[in-house]
Amino acid sequence: MLSSQKFAAVAMRTGTLPDMPRGHFVGGAFCGPIGRRLMESFDPGTAEPFAEFARGDSADVYAAVECARRAFESTWRDTAAAERGRILSRAAQLIREEASRLAVVECLDSGKPLAEAEGDVRGAARAFEYYAGACDKLQGDTFPLGPGYLGYSHHEPVGVAAQIIPWNYPIATAARGIAPALAAGCTVVAKPAEQTPFTALLLAEILKRAGLPDGVCSVVTGTGAEVGAPLAAHPGVDHVTFTGSVATGIGVMKAAADNVTRVVLELGGKSPVVVLADCDRQRALDGVIGAIFENAGQICSAGSRLIIERVLHDGFIEDLCRRAEALTLGHGLRNPKMGPVNSAAQLARIAGFIERARRRGVTIATGGGETVDPETGRGWFYQPTVVSGCAADDELVREEIFGPVLTVQIAEDAAHALALANDSQYALVAGVYTNNFSAAHHLAQRLDAGQVYINEYFAGGIEVPFGGNKKSGFGREKGLEGLLSYCRTKSVAARY
Ligand code: ADP
Repeated sequence: MLSSQKFAAVAMRTGTLPDMPRGHFVGGAFCGPIGRRLMESFDPGTAEPFAEFARGDSADVYAAVECARRAFESTWRDTAAAERGRILSRAAQLIREEASRLAVVECLDSGKPLAEAEGDVRGAARAFEYYAGACDKLQGDTFPLGPGYLGYSHHEPVGVAAQIIPWNYPIATAARGIAPALAAGCTVVAKPAEQTPFTALLLAEILKRAGLPDGVCSVVTGTGAEVGAPLAAHPGVDHVTFTGSVATGIGVMKAAADNVTRVVLELGGKSPVVVLADCDRQRALDGVIGAIFENAGQICSAGSRLIIERVLHDGFIEDLCRRAEALTLGHGLRNPKMGPVNSAAQLARIAGFIERARRRGVTIATGGGETVDPETGRGWFYQPTVVSGCAADDELVREEIFGPVLTVQIAEDAAHALALANDSQYALVAGVYTNNFSAAHHLAQRLDAGQVYINEYFAGGIEVPFGGNKKSGFGREKGLEGLLSYCRTKSVAARY
């Protein structure tokens, strides 16, 4: 097995990797798009295209959904739960065996540092492992209907589950959706983002090798308008899991509503990190840095609003800026602390926020500019940026930027911090740094968020349900609750 470094060396030398998938994966095999169109994926670290992939359309979507329906009816819904578990377990094993190549593909496609891509691939394997173990533990219930009656319920698979996947965590998001769907007995049609199509395709091929019957998991690539929209609107789709922007999520929900199709929406975030005076300062600094600069801040659950008690503020911000300035930037394959942002459009969007803030007279404590890979002079990079003294109604505090931009607000005490934290249209996650057990858990109860991290931002894994409130969406992925998203309850009442 080649190490990531060996694959990375090939990619550095040639700008790409051999044997990249070029078609959709439908019906258990790679196949060209019906309309015969291709499009390019860019390496954000160089701003150059590095591979072509299928530009699908509604005809490809219809073919994949039909395949998924057939596979659901003919095999997968009736495959024994233990056998589904064995297949998922083999998939986890294969992902681990092929982790090096998967990580380098992810790094080229998304731009993220190789170490982060390796972590995402480990997470993908873990998702399959977790749900493999859950397949045969999906138990039902019984109801006390009285003498002469038997009442029970069990979980049925919903049917064909569509997965619409974003570009920031391509393999991780694909795995956290596909694994529970398959575990529940659903078949899947996945549509990766057009910026990052490759690891989902590789994952579908791995699942086939793990023993998944043909048609149970298909991947159709292409744009949101040409593939995502017809998939969300398809009357043969029984469930849609969408992860992406609020605007697109609203469109997906409306399209699904026409067929009364169920949806899970994981949308944007503007998550607060509350740092109280009695925290472990070093831990809080590490946490705040990771919360906003991991994946160059392109995380729906990024900690993008620091809310800090006044007594800590000055020294903490000074240290934070020094740490931000010391982060190495570069092509993801060289494993810098921070990679590029994913696209020219994303870079322009981030720069636009900061330009408008400058014109309003907002203080940029550090960063605040576009830049390039210092080694090559190429790529779509934005400096790690801290904006201090932000008013609660400032655009930077209210809107999701999806980049390495941290705003800072001062709180007088924990109650004030809570009020600032909850003053948002989003409610995805929240972080709290304090050594006061009572304050931590009081905040955890009162913070409006789908999940709260105490003293370690991004703590937890596939075991922990994940999802948002307010405009961050609804429904939960991950954990056993994520599995239930792909089930519907069938209850039976009988007289004997
Ligand atoms: P961004 O604006 O950051 O690209 P999106 O929310 O538009 O984020 O994209 C997330 C996913 O949704 C991608 O796979 C994208 O192709 C897909 N998508 C975009 N537009 C639509 C649409 N109208 N219907 C369904 N999916 C879409």
